Amino acid sequence: MSSVAEQLAEVRARVAAACARASRSPESVTLLAVSKLKPAQLIREAYAAGQRDFGENYAQELRDKAAELEDLEGLRWHAIGPLQTNKVKYVARVAQAFHALDRLEVAQELSRRRQESPITCYVEVNVGAETTKSGLAPEALGPFLEAVRALPGLRVEGLMALPPPTEDEQVARAGFRTLRELARRHGLSGLSMGTTHDFELAIEEGATVVRVGTAIFGERP
Ligand SMILES: *Cc1c(COP(=O)(O)O)cnc(C)c1O
Repeated sequence: MSSVAEQLAEVRARVAAACARASRSPESVTLLAVSKLKPAQLIREAYAAGQRDFGENYAQELRDKAAELEDLEGLRWHAIGPLQTNKVKYVARVAQAFHALDRLEVAQELSRRRQESPITCYVEVNVGAETTKSGLAPEALGPFLEAVRALPGLRVEGLMALPPPTEDEQVARAGFRTLRELARRHGLSGLSMGTTHDFELAIEEGATVVRVGTAIFGERP
């Protein structure tokens, strides 16, 4: 199997190629390396290869890895999974961004804990209206954003989506476009969308952050 450094280089090249196809600068896309369920040692390898932004799904795993990797200067943690209110504290302590905001209670708790240094947030939207439980319905976005924008300690940067993987490119693009259009309508510029399965399409449709795990760290257990 290839090393993390090799796989990271390949993903970066694919990001750059997708940017070129869309006439975008590669700097306009942040590559988030999703390290959930992967050992801290692999994060060290990615860091050594220049990677700085890492995504974790589970609050306690994030807490533990952040402690273990405290020596890696300039590493930025992104919490990307659903969050229970009683675990907000772990995220608030170490994360520079939260990508799955869809509950006001969680927003209020984050706000209380981040008055000193605001946390960047992406509001999760359920773009396909499919079976997944997480994410707001597009109609609920306006009132939710209004409430969240009134809270100190949070900086709402954009929208996030995790559409179910599909082999149909047109369906995938349609989901990404829906998110882009919703963001535009609500005056937001950040778009956290695209995974191993579809990050190139997401970039072509305007993603500013792509969240890539498997293509960098290999299959998860
Ligand atoms: C696991 C996960 C990813 C990464 O998925 P891969 O298919 O491994 O690239 C991205 N976003 C979220 C929210 C995830 O939970």
